[in-house]
Amino acid sequence: MKITILSLFPEMFTGVFGESMIKRAKESGAVVIDIVDFRDFATNKHRHVDDYAFGGGAGMLLAVEPIDRALQSIEGYQTATKILLTPQGVPFVQAEAIRLSKVEHLILICGHYEGFDERIRSLVDLEISIGDYVLTGGEIGAMAIADSVIRLLPGVLGSPESAPHDSFYDGLLEYPQYTRPVEYKGMKVPDVLVSGNHAEIDKWRREQSLRRTMERRPDLLKKR
Ligand code: SAM
Repeated sequence: MKITILSLFPEMFTGVFGESMIKRAKESGAVVIDIVDFRDFATNKHRHVDDYAFGGGAGMLLAVEPIDRALQSIEGYQTATKILLTPQGVPFVQAEAIRLSKVEHLILICGHYEGFDERIRSLVDLEISIGDYVLTGGEIGAMAIADSVIRLLPGVLGSPESAPHDSFYDGLLEYPQYTRPVEYKGMKVPDVLVSGNHAEIDKWRREQSLRRTMERRPDLLKKR
């Protein structure tokens, strides 16, 4: 898979994309990540990519031209899935991460400043929000989307069989988990988990998963 990110702050990605699973996914060739600084596509001599809003109002807006030009410079951009990060987009959920993990080329566009020229929306296939709050820019959202997609790519997870048990994968929260010691400060691991009876363990986990979802996220159960 290829992921191209359009951002005015490419260095923000260095830490997140240079560690742990994403680092290994890049090294193994499972993903190629390219960060494009769309300031390089500004046409004025001061390299400005933003301007005042017609009609007035506080703050500056990203202009359409540098983003359009940056997109057109990307090889295969016509067939890539182009996503704009915006709090006004569809909320990002695991089902969408699974869908996007099957796409060949993703382009993520990070906004900044007060917002962007409305015509930028016409350049993309999809608008995604990572939650009902406002961030300074789209970079953290792009990192979240990239991370959740990359860990689903074949060969990336150390134990790939764990992904279908993750929260949200099948619309439920994950069951409680324990590691050694069996008892800590009076808190004991449930007997069933140390019983060695795998049918009973599976049954217990399923029940716990349902119970936890019912208690914490009844909205997920309704959706199912
Ligand atoms: N004034 C805009 C509005 O109310 O919709 C918010 C602009 S925000 C300060 C700047 C940029 O950060 C946005 O254009 C978007 O790219 C990104 N951003 C902020 N919050 C986001 C969110 N919840 N999900 C995805 N992107 C977000």
